[in-house]
Amino acid sequence: MDLFIHTPLQQEWLGRLSGKGDSFRNRADGIDKSGTFPSENVTELIDMGYTKITLPSSYGGEGLRIYDMVLLQEMLASYDASTALSIGWHLSVVGELFEKSLWEQGSMSFIAEEIAKGALINRAASEAQTGSPTRGGRPGTTAVKQGNKWVITGRKIYTTLSPMLTYFVVSAWIEEKMTIGQFLLHRNLEGLRIEETWDTMSLRGTGSHDLVLDHVEVDEDQLVELGTHPRKVESPLNAWLLHIPACYLGIAQAARDYALRFACEYTPNSISGPISQLANIRQLIGEMDLELMQARHFLYSVAGAYDDELRRGRLETELGAAKHAVTNSAISIVDKAMRIAGIRSLQLDNPLQRYYRDVRAGLHNPPMDDAVLNKIALSAIERTTGPVQGHIK
Ligand SMILES: Cc1cc2nc3c(=O)[nH]c(=O)nc-3n(C[C@H](O)[C@H](O)[C@H](O)COP(=O)(O)OP(=O)(O)OC[C@H]3O[C@@H](n4cnc5c(N)ncnc54)[C@H](O)[C@@H]3O)c2cc1C
Repeated sequence: MDLFIHTPLQQEWLGRLSGKGDSFRNRADGIDKSGTFPSENVTELIDMGYTKITLPSSYGGEGLRIYDMVLLQEMLASYDASTALSIGWHLSVVGELFEKSLWEQGSMSFIAEEIAKGALINRAASEAQTGSPTRGGRPGTTAVKQGNKWVITGRKIYTTLSPMLTYFVVSAWIEEKMTIGQFLLHRNLEGLRIEETWDTMSLRGTGSHDLVLDHVEVDEDQLVELGTHPRKVESPLNAWLLHIPACYLGIAQAARDYALRFACEYTPNSISGPISQLANIRQLIGEMDLELMQARHFLYSVAGAYDDELRRGRLETELGAAKHAVTNSAISIVDKAMRIAGIRSLQLDNPLQRYYRDVRAGLHNPPMDDAVLNKIALSAIERTTGPVQGHIK
């Protein structure tokens, strides 16, 4: 990873984060087994100022860019993936909001002050009927104007970080405007509640529960974004979503480190010395490290290209491609790590089985593999034939 550290600020933040390494690693198994949200970890991250790293310095944050966030998130995920994915959503919502100035100035200043004080924010977009919002489905959650208030009713699923979120950015269909709006909702609003439904085999600590909205009333200015289309992830480009592959790369690194240590220490009595001397084990180690190198170079190259304003405009399909490639490589690396460790990798007290379950979740975070490949293919075809009409974008 040293090769990818360029600035004193990155070094400083990595140093601070590494101070949490032992305690976060030690808590990871308990979080997974009980499926509880890592409140202690998140509180410590808030206390060290980590939750404002993507807030611009002009608003009291650290002003870190995509590349920096990816670097830190990868390290955090190697300690505890549930903590990393949860905080990653907060960091990316903040990063995108301020990079693109998505809201009116008053709302931006308000939320900046809140984040500087330690508030947490995430988007609640997924619903049972629409599935992934990146597919373009219309939300079943509705917002109806009554007097000078909006009344919001519906149910969101998979709302990561819900046990500690201060603010939810909720998408809702506004019939009178025939469009989708994004509403900023404080967790203490009457009619808003969390139903603890998140019980999956992967990332069990992310607290990605249901958000239930039962006639929640908010002021007019809580309608912070208005769009004609559902919020499709890749349009416009949202490079802040690179926190997702960073998380899965961190899991892969942790699995590889465990397997390598095991290979160097395990000495069955059929050979003299550790299994790391065996050709079959060396092949697996070599393949794991090769895939890690490929994934890391791809991810950091794309993140760096986005941060470089001269090159950003030339990015086309690379953001989604990096997510696809890194996530699938991470799955493959964890698989190889488990082959090295043998049956021990299946024991419930072995971290490899947790990495195996956690890394699978990457397939179901946006953008999805089929959407990425379709976009790459369409881009290639259009470069050859010109714009294609009537194709699914
Ligand atoms: C760990 C984790 C954390 C998450 N956190 C959040 C969060 O904080 N906020 C949030 O809003 N969401 C969150 N999500 C939800 C996520 O963004 C997606 O909405 C969800 O994972 C969609 O799952 P799906 O692909 O199975 O759903 P679906 O979209 O229902 O897809 C199910 C199947 O149907 C196919 N399919 C459905 N529609 C289409 C289509 N139009 N074209 C092609 N194929 C289609 C899919 O390929 C898939 O095979 C989280 C998900 C995970 C795993």
